[in-house]
Amino acid sequence: MHELSLCRSIYGITVRAAGDRPVARVCLDIGQLRQVVPATLARCWEVVTATTALEGSVLVVNHIAARAVCQDCGAGLALGPTPAMVCGTCGGRTLRIEAGEEFLVRSIDVAAGSGSPGATESSGRP
Ligand SMILES: [Zn+2]
Repeated sequence: MHELSLCRSIYGITVRAAGDRPVARVCLDIGQLRQVVPATLARCWEVVTATTALEGSVLVVNHIAARAVCQDCGAGLALGPTPAMVCGTCGGRTLRIEAGEEFLVRSIDVAAGSGSPGATESSGRP
């Protein structure tokens, strides 16, 4: 369940960036090699943001496919969900990961002033 710790760090980043403005969406780049389960991430986000100013905000995840380059022959290869760290061209095992390890908060959509009044009205607390 490393999604929970990811959500905690996303939360910290978002709070620092948004200040006291209401947040509608947080857009993330997450590499395939992070092995984040989207449904679990969304559920953890609900847990982490519950009863906070970010309650009701949504995570939007842009998944980055994993890619590597063979250091022996220079061939580029796409890595599958369970990456075989062997070059398909020459069989070399010295691969350099080029993409797939991203974990980045790309943008934060602030609800206020976006032309949709009422979006902030739904933050009723029990
Ligand atoms: Zn190779």
